[in-house]
Amino acid sequence: MQEMKTPKKSLLYYCIVALFILTALNLFVFPLLKDIHIQDVSYNVLMQMADAKNIGQVEINEGEILFTDKENKQIYRTGKMDDPNLTERLYTAGADFRSISADEMSPMQYFFLSFVLPTLLFGFLGWILFRQLKKRMNGGANAINSMTFGMGGLGSGSAKVYVKSDGGIKFADVAGEEEAKDLLREIVDFLHDPEKYKEIGAKLPKGALLSGPPGTGKTLLAKAVAGEAEVPFFSISGSEFVEMFVGMGAAKVRDLFKQANEKAPCIVFIDEIDAIGKRRDNTMGGNDEREQTLNQLLTEMDGFDSSKGVVILAATNRPEALDPALLRPGRFDRRIPVELPDLQGRAAILRVHAKKIKTAPDVDLDKIARTCPGASGADLANIVNEAALRAVRSGRKAAVQEDFEESIETVIAGYRKKNAIMSDKEKMIVAYHEVGHALVAALQSHSAPVEKITIIPRTSGALGYTMQVDEADKTLLTKTELLNKITTYTGGRSAEELIFKDYTTGASNDIEQATRLARAMITRYGMSENFDMLALETVSNAYLGGDSSLACSPETQTKIDLAAAELVKKQHEKARSILAENTDSLHRIARFLYEKETISGEEFMELLQKTEKNSENRD
Ligand code: ADP
Ligand code: MG
Ligand code: ZN
Repeated sequence: MQEMKTPKKSLLYYCIVALFILTALNLFVFPLLKDIHIQDVSYNVLMQMADAKNIGQVEINEGEILFTDKENKQIYRTGKMDDPNLTERLYTAGADFRSISADEMSPMQYFFLSFVLPTLLFGFLGWILFRQLKKRMNGGANAINSMTFGMGGLGSGSAKVYVKSDGGIKFADVAGEEEAKDLLREIVDFLHDPEKYKEIGAKLPKGALLSGPPGTGKTLLAKAVAGEAEVPFFSISGSEFVEMFVGMGAAKVRDLFKQANEKAPCIVFIDEIDAIGKRRDNTMGGNDEREQTLNQLLTEMDGFDSSKGVVILAATNRPEALDPALLRPGRFDRRIPVELPDLQGRAAILRVHAKKIKTAPDVDLDKIARTCPGASGADLANIVNEAALRAVRSGRKAAVQEDFEESIETVIAGYRKKNAIMSDKEKMIVAYHEVGHALVAALQSHSAPVEKITIIPRTSGALGYTMQVDEADKTLLTKTELLNKITTYTGGRSAEELIFKDYTTGASNDIEQATRLARAMITRYGMSENFDMLALETVSNAYLGGDSSLACSPETQTKIDLAAAELVKKQHEKARSILAENTDSLHRIARFLYEKETISGEEFMELLQKTEKNSENRD
């Protein structure tokens, strides 16, 4: 994809550079020139010349003495000495005390340098600034003639225009997201062959809004559209409308649509549209400038005729924060959800990215995909890259399975800490803690089997962790499954209590997760007896971690807290009793883990079954 730029950008740079050179000249070069006339001499010379009565003018300064010879041909400079009779001696030598200036500028020169030049310079700069501003106020009329986009800075409108090129991103580069691709493909098809649609009377949708969590490939999809469509593609980010100058945002919107209309058929892509499209409200400190920009956008979207072939794509991860006016049919009438990839999607994305690196033939990407549920496309791209980096670090020519497995942990939990100081006792506690989680998970029939347990400290602060793997992605979770999850979270602390009769701070993250889940069960999933199917909490920012706000009376809040506490407590007790019945396995696996620091899911299951058999034999 090529981005068109203009040569005019250099104008501003030119001015800045000119200013720089001038300042540098003034600071460093002119003083040097001045100094050429002055000759540094020793104090002796002054004395000798005074004795020889060969002194013209003299200037005595703070740390130096400047003087000339009789003919005033040469200026000399010397240091100052503690010489009380100097003045007298110089006087008798016939010196003329006055200030000596080396740069005897003529009044004309002086006038020019200190008055005319700065005026000219500032005038020039001002003229340029003014011109740029005017250009933007006019909606960049000049800009279009010369394809002046993509200037940025104090330039004209900052939409980038892309033209089709062979190296661009294609739909094939976007793995998974088939639904989104289908919808976008239709738009591209319309732009290629509008007659086919006109025959039936179908109208092109005016706009499509891609919404989904960060890193799921929204921007990538838009770029793919640009790569596939054989029409100009304007790309601008919502934040670019928010400007230093009041009214500029609206002007930019106008500018953008004017350009788009002239280049139709074309596609306009507004990334992160929530920066301007936020719901208008009457809260204090509402942003007038943003509202103006939004209003302009709404007007422009109504104003153009979609049969001309201008399609507006936008992307956001906060669709619920967008102004309803923006979402009504006739504006962004197509909502394209871009969700986190499922198992197949993850495998496909891994495959797309793994193609770009060298991998060993035995790498099983499906297995990798299974071990990172919830990873976004960006995470997966990162995992592949980390694997390649690790392969290079280990001096391999291609990435092997182990590189991928290690890189998942790197992406999830950070790098291995090189020389983490952990005492034996601590290491033992962490081992029991992690095996506690794993055992509880494995012994509850509905819990997913463990994939890996490790007690190698990570840069993220995790001292160890248990990687659980779902065989298939689950979209629906039953109440039992949720309860079991909570039990698993409490398993680590339970093991500590059981074995060491004391517990540590290591469970803080588990506590957070268990609490969140327990509260969600009560307030959002209607899974408590007392409240039945009542929504006690609303979730905003579903794609960005999901902040929730309570929607109930303070009395109810207290009850929710109590209910959540009770729920977690019950599961905690269950975890403790599970472990108490399986202390043999707990000891055996924890010690094994302590020795090896990392054990795989298979090793874990093997050990577990062995212990179970042993105890059966004993019975
Ligand atoms: P966002 O949805 O936040 O705009 P991006 O489109 O910027 O996310 O995606 C970030 C990166 O993640 C992309 O550059 C790409 O490498 C990778 N990626 C995300 N989704 C996919 C996908 N479906 N297929 C291939 N790569 C993807
Ligand atoms: Mg993006
Ligand atoms: Zn834990």
